Amino acid sequence: MPNLNEFFDKKPEEVKEKPYELEYLNGVRACSKCDEDVTGAYWDPIELFMSWKCSKGHDTVFRVV
Ligand SMILES: [Zn+2]
Repeated sequence: MPNLNEFFDKKPEEVKEKPYELEYLNGVRACSKCDEDVTGAYWDPIELFMSWKCSKGHDTVFRVV
């Protein structure tokens, strides 16, 4: 018998991509590609970078080194 619980516990790939929560940051930041002001950003506490996306779909990533 296959283990049905194991099957149903599987999650789609995009959900498994980050096994932890990104923190939401308030504030306004400029898009790096079109200078649009973007409200809010996400902080990745493991890989140490901030990212935000403007309404045109440009991703801006700010890595803390
Ligand atoms: Zn943009």
